[in-house]
Amino acid sequence: MSPFSDALSIAASVRRGERSATEVLEEHLGRIAEREPEIHAFNLVTDGPARATAAAVDAAVAAGEDPGPLAGVPVAIKDNLCTRGVPTTCSSRILEGWRPPYDATVVQRLAAAGAVAVGKTNLDEFAMGSSTENSAFGPTRNPHDTSRVPGGSSGGSAAAVAAGFAPVSLGSDTGGSIRQPAALCGVVGVKPTYGLVSRLGLVAFGSSLDQVGPFAHTVADAALVCEVVGGHDPGDSTSLPGAFPSVSEHLSDGVAGLRVGIVTELMGEGVAPDVAARVRAAADALAGAGATVEEVSVPAVTFGLSAYYLVAPAEASSNLARYDGVRFGNRVDAATTGEMMTATRTAGFGDEVKRRIMLGTFVLSAGYYDAFYGTALKVRTLMRQDFDTAYESYDVLLSPTSPTTAFAFGAKTADPMTMYLNDICTIPTNLAGHAAMSVPFGTGDDGLPVGVQVLAPALGEVPMFRTAAVLEAAAHAEGGAA
Ligand code: GLN
Repeated sequence: MSPFSDALSIAASVRRGERSATEVLEEHLGRIAEREPEIHAFNLVTDGPARATAAAVDAAVAAGEDPGPLAGVPVAIKDNLCTRGVPTTCSSRILEGWRPPYDATVVQRLAAAGAVAVGKTNLDEFAMGSSTENSAFGPTRNPHDTSRVPGGSSGGSAAAVAAGFAPVSLGSDTGGSIRQPAALCGVVGVKPTYGLVSRLGLVAFGSSLDQVGPFAHTVADAALVCEVVGGHDPGDSTSLPGAFPSVSEHLSDGVAGLRVGIVTELMGEGVAPDVAARVRAAADALAGAGATVEEVSVPAVTFGLSAYYLVAPAEASSNLARYDGVRFGNRVDAATTGEMMTATRTAGFGDEVKRRIMLGTFVLSAGYYDAFYGTALKVRTLMRQDFDTAYESYDVLLSPTSPTTAFAFGAKTADPMTMYLNDICTIPTNLAGHAAMSVPFGTGDDGLPVGVQVLAPALGEVPMFRTAAVLEAAAHAEGGAA
């Protein structure tokens, strides 16, 4: 169990006037001062504005007002979410110095709920990567073992929670960037159904895949943050109508009668045996709690990686065309506009981002579009159909989140493909637009955290969170008994 206070209990004590938001903030800033030089979870710690926000929360409580469900809760924000007047870099040189003129909807909603933003967290440049080693500002270290990566791309947000810098944080997940770092850092991470959380103010990577979600120590905190930041936003054309499903009220429903399928294709080749063993232990815990657990084949998930590395770079190459030295961030001057754009993009983007732009531009080009991009879209449909078939018989599916525990720095940087293979279990969810979350479930042979992934169909958040809550309780019981 985490040694740090959770968001729900912080908010409860601040709302009752038992603790001040200022005291809570100073405790977290103290931990940041102590460990951040070693961890590098943040691109920027906004301690000044945070102190002002905490003071405002305290003033509201003193005046008899209710600051909201996240009253006085410190939150860390991935640095690809726009924050008004506060640098938003995407960990890229090309955006250095850019200050957005508006807050992302999710940032606005956190503030309206009484949360206190403590800083912007490090990521792989433009969220492209699985280790945070692609940040232009240096990597983040895993708080459990600083010789290991925290995962990525939201490595800073995962590490910030794991290190006790904030009880909750926000990340973005295009192919696993919330769930995989959550698994590697031993915290809860949620990728909600596509359209449930607004993308307004999330710097676009793969627009049909991107979704914002929380990191937390507990399933209940993650549920609360989803309910606060989620729900319809007229400013996002892909936003679903209505509120985020009310998951918090179902957390103690248990899993009796729930049908759980272990995805056969995600338990074999490429998955470390100690990780697979933890997934089986999680399945046993669910069966012990009254769920029906079986293996199920979802054949098309094996095409996930191939389809993703056509669709995501295609969308990225289009989305990143806007960074040309004209409107945003850095500009490298040159004689002509064309030369200025080339010089700016050459200097501003890192190697992985350039690789994705080239890949994406290639697969969208005349003569190749149908063969590559068109085929990937067909595979995407096939994957949805295979999931639909599985969800006719199962309420949720189970798999590892990441095929291994946290790996060493440099272990997977030489060959991009070995890095991409980290996401075999998480990518299918994004292609399908479904929900999935990672729940810590013990450790691997190396003593480092293992995450179990609970997958659900679109809008299947209630059974997903019910399952997660049972797994969390089982992991605690196991940890306590050990
Ligand atoms: N690791 C995957 C990639 O590099 C997913 C990243 C993400 O979810 N943002 O694209």
